[in-house]
Order: sequence, then C-alpha cells, then structure tokens
Amino acid sequence: MEIFKGKSAFAGIASGKILFYTRGEFQNRQYRIKDAKKELAAFEKARGEVEELLLRLYDEAEGKPGSVRKNYQAQLQVLRDPTYSTAIREMIDHQMVSAGYAIQTTRDELVITFQELETPIIRERIRHIREISSKLMRALGGGLSRITLGSEPVILVAEQLQPGEILELEKDNILAVVTAHGSEISHSSIMARTMNIPSLFDIEVRQQWDGKAAIVDGYTGTLYLNPSDEQLKEYEFRRQEDLREKEELLKLRDEPDVTLDGKEVNVYANIGSVDDLSNVDYYGADGVGLMRSEFQYLGKDTHPRENELFLEYRRLAESMGSRPAVVRTMDLGADKQAEYMRIPEETNPIMGNRGIRLSLDHKDIFEEQLRAVYRAGYYGNLAVMFPMISSLEELDEIDDMIISAKRSLANRGIPFHDIDKGVMIETPAAVMIAEELAARVDFLSIGTNDLTQYTLAMDRQNPLLKEKYNDHHPAVLRMIKMVIDAGHRAGCKVYICGEIAADTALTETFLRMGIDALSVVPACVLPVRKALRSTDLSQNPYKPM
Ligand code: PEP
Ligand code: MG
Repeated sequence: MEIFKGKSAFAGIASGKILFYTRGEFQNRQYRIKDAKKELAAFEKARGEVEELLLRLYDEAEGKPGSVRKNYQAQLQVLRDPTYSTAIREMIDHQMVSAGYAIQTTRDELVITFQELETPIIRERIRHIREISSKLMRALGGGLSRITLGSEPVILVAEQLQPGEILELEKDNILAVVTAHGSEISHSSIMARTMNIPSLFDIEVRQQWDGKAAIVDGYTGTLYLNPSDEQLKEYEFRRQEDLREKEELLKLRDEPDVTLDGKEVNVYANIGSVDDLSNVDYYGADGVGLMRSEFQYLGKDTHPRENELFLEYRRLAESMGSRPAVVRTMDLGADKQAEYMRIPEETNPIMGNRGIRLSLDHKDIFEEQLRAVYRAGYYGNLAVMFPMISSLEELDEIDDMIISAKRSLANRGIPFHDIDKGVMIETPAAVMIAEELAARVDFLSIGTNDLTQYTLAMDRQNPLLKEKYNDHHPAVLRMIKMVIDAGHRAGCKVYICGEIAADTALTETFLRMGIDALSVVPACVLPVRKALRSTDLSQNPYKPM
C-alpha cells in the first residue's frame, strides 16, 4: 500500500477502483467493437449533425466580425476534408474501434504530424482539427457526459477538472474525486461538494493508477493506493460510522430553522442545476438560495435558448413549490468560459469581463435568460439575482432589460410573474454602495468566495496562495456586518451564499450580526441547522471584530 497526502475539499470516505481522466479529453477507451457498420453509421450521423450546426452558426454570424464567419467556414472545410473522414472511417472498419476512439486517435495523429510545422496557417489548422473532433465526439455522445464512467462506480483521478466537467458526471457512478491541482474555493471543489462527492486535491496523481484500488479519506485528505484487506476492512467500518453520523443528522431534516430564543433564520441550498434538487429535498433545505445557472451555458457550441432555460427554471419552480428559489443569472467568464461568448484573451480573467459585465455585453443572450426566468416565475416562488455587481449603473441597465424582457413576453401573450430581484455583494465596490443597491432590490446575497479574493487581492484558485488565503480575515467579516446593516437600513433582506456560510464555527457570529438566511451546499444544510438551533441570541450581544 502507498499513502499520498493532500488536502480535503469535501469530507467523506470512499473506496473503489480508480479511473484516470486526462483533462479536457473525452474518455474514449480502446475496446473491440462487434459491429463496424453500426459504428460507421453513428459517425456519419454525428458528422451530419455537426455540419448542420456549423451551417447554422455560420448563418447566425451574419453581421458579426468577419473572423467569426471565417472560423466556422474553416471548421466546415476540415469536416468535409476527405483525408480526415476517410482516416476515421478506415480506422473504425479495419481496427474495429469505436467512432469516438477513431476520431480521437486520428486527431492526435494529425496534430503530431502537423505540429512540427510551426506556421500560423498550420497552427490555425490544428486548432480547427481539435475543435471539429471535439464537436464530433460531443455529437456522438448525444450531449452525454464527456467522461464515460462505465457501469461500476469509480474514484475519478485527474490532474485538474473544470467545473463544467464535474457537473456533467453521472453522480451515482462517482465515489470520490482526486486532483493534483485545485483549491478549496475553486468552482470545481464547490461543485463536488454540491454533488456530495468526497474530494481531495494537492495529490501527485499518476496515469498508471488507472484501474487500481484505492481508499479516499476526505477527512484527513489522504489517498491510500492498493490498500491491504485489513485496511479495507478498517475503512469500511469508518465509512459505516460516517453514514451513521449522517443519519443521525437527518433527524433534523423536518425541523424548523429557529434559534433557542425563537429567531427564524432560513437555511437554503446552493445548487448547480435541477439535478441537485433531490439533495435539496433529502436534506430538507428551506429553499434554494443560489442556483448557479451558468453551468447550463458550458460545454456547448452555442448558448441555450429561452425555451430550454424556461423548462429548467420551471422544473425548479415547480419542485420547490412555495419554497423560494433564487436563479443567479449566468456568471460566465474567468474560470467558466463559454467559447461562443468570444472573450478575447485576458491577462487577468479574474479581474476581467465576467458576470454581469459580460451579460450586459451580450444583451441578446442575457435577455433570453431574463425572459426564461420571469416566465418560470409564474409556476412557483422564483427570484432572480445578478452576479459581480459593482455599480448602480449596472442596475440601471438591468432594470431596462427586465422591462424589455417583460414587454416582449407580454407582446407574445406569454404569462409571467413579477419576481423578487436581488444582487450579489461580491466586490468591495458593492459593499461600499450596499445601501443604495439595497434601496432598489428585494435582497442582497453576499458572495464571500469572490468578496474574499477581491478584498485580499488573492486569486481564489492560486495554489501558491493557499496558505495565505484567509476567508476569516477581519476585513471580510467586517464587510459582512457592514452589508447586513446597510441592507437592513434600506429594508432589505441579507443572505450569505459563499462557502463561508457553511462554516459552523461562524454560524453564531453570522446570527449575531443579524443575517436573514445562510445558503450552503445541500450536504451542509443539516450541520448548519444543528448549529443554528443550538444558538441562544438572548445571551451575549454581537461584538465587532
Ligand atoms: C461567491 O462568490 O461567493 C459565490 C457564491 O459565487 P461563485 O462561487 O459562483 O463565484
Ligand atoms: Mg462569485
């Protein structure tokens, strides 16, 4: 047995076989297929779909900068190039491999052949080959997960995982996630926590581990490779203990969120998509305090349309019933890039065109989302919330867009509701103008993940700053208190939806500050409820930090 020590992003114990995933790759494994004809037909179908998509994107790009149309044209050329598709067809037919594997291998061979010739034209060609191959593999998967996990649950090991890749995983087939890179507050770690998957980072992972047995201890941040029978027995015992503790907490599932002295403060859940709703109910959250809607925009060739979004939000509204559910509008940019948003390369994406700034630069895409949320509001208790606000002018623009979205729905005779509107407080600028913002919205929600990184001027994902990054910094805690007071002065509710809301060591502090709701990953609802229900606010007033 070998022991590897790293850091824990989410506690829990898991044991099983490792699947090593190469970042950004579709996991196409080499196996012998039985029916080449079927595989060739699947390839042709995918080819047809990608061709149709490119033609549509080409048409839609009319009026946009010439380079955008040229890009689609060049991709079409690669797709129609007989050398490329013949190579794939021959590989399927002669070597009896899957279409996905043939596309991936052909792409790799072409890239290796061309990359010696370092000219701008060749570099462009390589980029198009990569892009077309990804589109084909996506089409083959029918929009399914990039990572095919197989029938047995696995421990997923990778150098690094993108938040979108985690969200695509078939949750039931993942025992744990282990990566070399990451940070506790990165979106990948947050998504693993949201999906209730034990996870570690800072482990020196190796490709040779693929298929080997391992134990993941998310409490101590340890990976045990090739554990002995004795070790397996011991960990199975600990896993059962862990489950028993969790079951004990489940007794609080239907209990109200009230302090010992009778103050009600809601505990909401943060989710990445409607797939997480089962956990919201399982842990008995009072509502959804944050749905990170941007994940529906990732891993696609074009942005999701109003109807697709509406169906997702309607499902959210209907499953929550009278409980509130907050849809945060697309917070794209920085570590959540969608190619079709065409953000030029930025020196510092974290300080770049992201969140509301990007949405306001793409008003057509943004308005589709607003129409979808307001429409879905008709079916339940939805609210809308805007990320990365830093000025009142942004709110002016948003208000104009809401008017336009509602007008367009009214003109089409589509029912909608005038839902609550909130803003995220995650820039120091928003903290300083919190009272003016609060006067114009129904609630403020403090996003401490970003607020901490912008206040400390420390990238939340930078591994070199791991030891220095302090989300309990007095500057951050004082800002939280300032925002709560400013919000209340303007008659507005104030929530916290950053990861710090789940820190039970701070529950009492937040309650004494006067917070109205805490929104946490589903698995943390009950620990926070437990802490809240054992706090007595009639004793000891809040002491400023
Ligand atoms: C935050 O910044 O605290 C937040 C909740 O948003 P995200 O983590 O998605 O940036
Ligand atoms: Mg944020």
